[in-house]
Amino acid sequence: MAMRPHVWVLSAVNLDQYCSACAGPAPAEGGLKRCPKCKTVRYCNSECQNRDWAWHKPECSALQKWAATAPSAEHAIPGEAVRCLGRILWGSQKEGLDSPWAQEIRMMQSNRASLQPSAFESQTHLAHSVVRYLGVSSPQELEPYGLRSAGDLVDLISRFTTNTFTLTAPSLTPIGICVAPAVALANHSCDPNAVIVFPRSPSASSAKEPLLHVVALREIAVGKEVRISYVDTTLPKALRQKELKEVYSFVCQCKLCSRAVPADPREALWCPKRCGGICPYPTEDDPLSRCVKCNAPIGDTDAVLDALRVGEEALDKATALQFRDPAKAKQLTSNIIPILTSAGVTPSSHPLLAMTRLHQELLIADLPTALSQETLDETVRTAAKYSAGLQSLLPKGHPVRAVALGELGKLLAVDEPSPPSGPNAAGRFPPSGPARLKLAYESLVKAHEELLIGFGKAGGGGQLGREVRDAIVRLEKELGVWTSGIRNALEDTRAARAGPSSK
Ligand SMILES: [Zn+2]
Ligand SMILES: [Zn+2]
Ligand SMILES: [Zn+2]
Ligand SMILES: [Zn+2]
Repeated sequence: MAMRPHVWVLSAVNLDQYCSACAGPAPAEGGLKRCPKCKTVRYCNSECQNRDWAWHKPECSALQKWAATAPSAEHAIPGEAVRCLGRILWGSQKEGLDSPWAQEIRMMQSNRASLQPSAFESQTHLAHSVVRYLGVSSPQELEPYGLRSAGDLVDLISRFTTNTFTLTAPSLTPIGICVAPAVALANHSCDPNAVIVFPRSPSASSAKEPLLHVVALREIAVGKEVRISYVDTTLPKALRQKELKEVYSFVCQCKLCSRAVPADPREALWCPKRCGGICPYPTEDDPLSRCVKCNAPIGDTDAVLDALRVGEEALDKATALQFRDPAKAKQLTSNIIPILTSAGVTPSSHPLLAMTRLHQELLIADLPTALSQETLDETVRTAAKYSAGLQSLLPKGHPVRAVALGELGKLLAVDEPSPPSGPNAAGRFPPSGPARLKLAYESLVKAHEELLIGFGKAGGGGQLGREVRDAIVRLEKELGVWTSGIRNALEDTRAARAGPSSK
């Protein structure tokens, strides 16, 4: 199932990276063209700009007014929620207040009645910002948008907040938000049978993008409900439940939340005896934790609890610093990952998994300017660890897992700046030379298989699936050279051994 969202906007940091009409990345040649009036949104070309004009026209003047009265340059562009709500309200006028388009927005479920106190303040703030963005001075002025009172506006904001999806690039990088009422009807499960992706179609036409696809992760029997996840399913139960309660106002009772398991791989330590089993995280109330396989007790509970606390704090800090001060963020991830690892935390557990993902992102961002054998190898090791952590949490073909595997394969395929000479040391990871290429090839083949599931077979596994397939073809050629090189060498040796009479 594929559809265009009713509305979508890019987050502020992505406005100069992606097109505001088709959500495509900046063209390699010439980059994006900026709207000369508001100087805020950018487009691939005039075709994209013209197509968006009916939507952008009221937005353009609102953005200019907003910037003119902003207290500082930092606040010159309204947040994504404000801009998205603006597009909903102007869209309702443009399409007509009684149009199916506007009705579908109105029909979305609201949880205003069960709103958490924590959400109340942020929604009030959002309401004030929307009023300022629209330039209205009294509730009566909201009437042309189909809102008869301030209460109606609060209601709309509540519906919007609970029915918004993240807009992602084909690599799953979050780039904005979108509203798609038909998909918002799907219920939640922490073990979903379907996912939402934006794979981008292989055709040259980007006029229909961004297209939201609902992809089944496994066979969904006729009459069985399609369930997606509203939250990151790699998070442990307590964190998933907290977000579901705060944003969506419900207590999840899905299989994953209600099934009692001896140890959740999202919160586990390796067995102290290294039997291959895992132990659940100890807690203040329940400090005794044992291996689920051999019953060995974990040693120093306090040290583990300390490491987890430090890890949690560092993850929050490093996430906040990722774009503002990436060097500092990388220092944090580099320091804390070994602490969690030596406390025995498994790669699939929180916060180590999230920390490893962040570390990988920071390393990859640095690669173009700091490419050395050492940094490349560390990036490969980090990607391998992240991918391994996901394998035990997500089903085969889950897009997050598929993308991580593709990333690992692509990193392994990068030309080694200074490969160590001599034979590969046993157990050294990543290996060098042909062994590394072979591993790259195997990872990419596996990734391609999973991308076809997670992003849909019809489009060749999305833009990423098509890229990975091209990389496989390139590697096949390169490996072909190696294999034939090795075969020739072997044949030469055999020929030499057999002597001149053999031929
Ligand atoms: Zn475009
Ligand atoms: Zn403009
Ligand atoms: Zn659940
Ligand atoms: Zn054990």
